[in-house]
Amino acid sequence: MGVSPGVAIASGFVLETEEYRIPRRTITPDEVPTELKRLDHALAESQDELEKLRTDAVDQLGAETASIFDFHLGVLRDRSLIEQIHRTIADKCYTAEYSVTTVLRGHARAFLQMSNSVLPERARDIYDLEKRLLRHLLGERRETIEHLTEDVCVLAHDLTPSQTALLARSRVRGFATDVGGRTSHTAIVARALSIPAVVGVSDISRDVASGDTVIIDGNRGVVIINPDDLTREEYNRHIREYQELEHELEELASLPAVTRDGVQITLMGNIEFPHEVASVMEKGGDGIGLYRTEFLYLGSETEPTEAEHLTAYTEAIQAAGGKPIVFRTLDLGADKWSQARRSEPERNPFLGLRSIRFCLQHLPLFRTQLRAILRASVKGDVRVMLPLITSTLELRQAKIIIGDVMEDLEEEHIPFNRDVKIGIMIETPSAALTAATLGKEVDFFSIGTNDLVQYTLAVDRTNERVAPLFTPAHPAVVKLIKDILKAGRRQGIGVSLCGEMAGDPEYTILLLGLGLRTFSMTPPRIPQIKRVIRAVSLEKAAKISRRVMTFDSDRQILNYLREETRRIAPKAL
Ligand code: PEP
Ligand code: MG
Repeated sequence: MGVSPGVAIASGFVLETEEYRIPRRTITPDEVPTELKRLDHALAESQDELEKLRTDAVDQLGAETASIFDFHLGVLRDRSLIEQIHRTIADKCYTAEYSVTTVLRGHARAFLQMSNSVLPERARDIYDLEKRLLRHLLGERRETIEHLTEDVCVLAHDLTPSQTALLARSRVRGFATDVGGRTSHTAIVARALSIPAVVGVSDISRDVASGDTVIIDGNRGVVIINPDDLTREEYNRHIREYQELEHELEELASLPAVTRDGVQITLMGNIEFPHEVASVMEKGGDGIGLYRTEFLYLGSETEPTEAEHLTAYTEAIQAAGGKPIVFRTLDLGADKWSQARRSEPERNPFLGLRSIRFCLQHLPLFRTQLRAILRASVKGDVRVMLPLITSTLELRQAKIIIGDVMEDLEEEHIPFNRDVKIGIMIETPSAALTAATLGKEVDFFSIGTNDLVQYTLAVDRTNERVAPLFTPAHPAVVKLIKDILKAGRRQGIGVSLCGEMAGDPEYTILLLGLGLRTFSMTPPRIPQIKRVIRAVSLEKAAKISRRVMTFDSDRQILNYLREETRRIAPKAL
């Protein structure tokens, strides 16, 4: 799946996660002696290390516990095993790393197959030893993302959203991962950074060796390893064409987002970090429709203080120059908080303690953030948005906390805007179905289709195996969006849409036809959506959306929308 458009050609860089992933890489026969030397060096270093560990353990834990290291040392001194690794290097011309991995893993598998309860433990010891040897082998050549000296395409099993955000400051030109989905936060961040990305490529991190030339085609969802000259030339042409398209789109930035029949549409940007406000403004955005504030947490090991929140928010407000910013309160949990950081990992994190639920159970953390948002509310057009609301009770609880925090600030004579607008995200079927009731208690709605699709269709947004089932074109989703917009109109409150659907030109006409007037999307998408808006009249859009409501399958809906969009705004798709 191509999840972030554009094309990158660069040298591959295989990112290791907790496990070392060793590519199958061959060497030339004249490199064999060097490779054998590297292996012997790693064996000697590991042996020294283990002997030292053993001596320390005898002193501190007693001889019996220290004996676990005897097994490790025994394996390292096992001549037949070492001989086998040597032969793999010399006869098959594999790298030392790859030879260590294949031989030791084979050995571990043999232990696992034996029906003796102690032996599987031994397999774990061997994996441990494998890691130790690899650390010594890779230690010499290991590169890190932050210290790259050349442009690369990163290949990884998976990247967390915060790892992806870090790529911005590096020389990463594109990335591909084994797993992932279109609306996973990793994909969202890639689009925000304009880094071409392909996800769900099953074994890509194992198939590529660092140093291979890699093409990542985020438009078509293709990864090519070591392309021939012809393919390379073809892709260089794609890159030039893409740059021309980008240039053409830049010209749209200063033009208004007005339909053919003269109705002004509001186009806003979604951001994860304050520095992204600038790119929203550059693309001609009318403000920030979604600030995913939880990224301040994801980038650090410790909880941000009120002052740190306030600094980030002030930076964003200043960059927005008076335009509105919708601060979404912490949406932590699920894929936006590594389960490893949880004391007890959840079995079903997307249905678990995430988002507003998490905040309501961690009040000090919630209050710290609310204080910072409210303090920032006197510095610009600040709005507060609560994520993942599922019931009026939850909404009222959150509003009580906001009221409490306001009282505290008042007592402390700290200025804030008492009339700050408070809205909610509609991203669960329960909220969508009760929008008419919820709408009485809030100032605005924002439709979060990423989660709304996930929860309505029961499709994990991050799972590549069910990715084809994840579609906003499903009649159930279209009907929910229509009903939310209707509830908002009846209640006289603003409704925006800030899921990835808002930045997908295939859906622009439908959304306009259903009555949406405010779109919020990843900044690079703004010009393309504007192009569709400027090409269509609301009357035509309404007609198209009425026709969509008569279809009964997502295929039919999507094909029809593509056809109409191509006719109306040919360059948009
Ligand atoms: C959504 O769910 O559509 C949304 C915008 O929020 P997030 O992607 O951060 O979950
Ligand atoms: Mg969401």
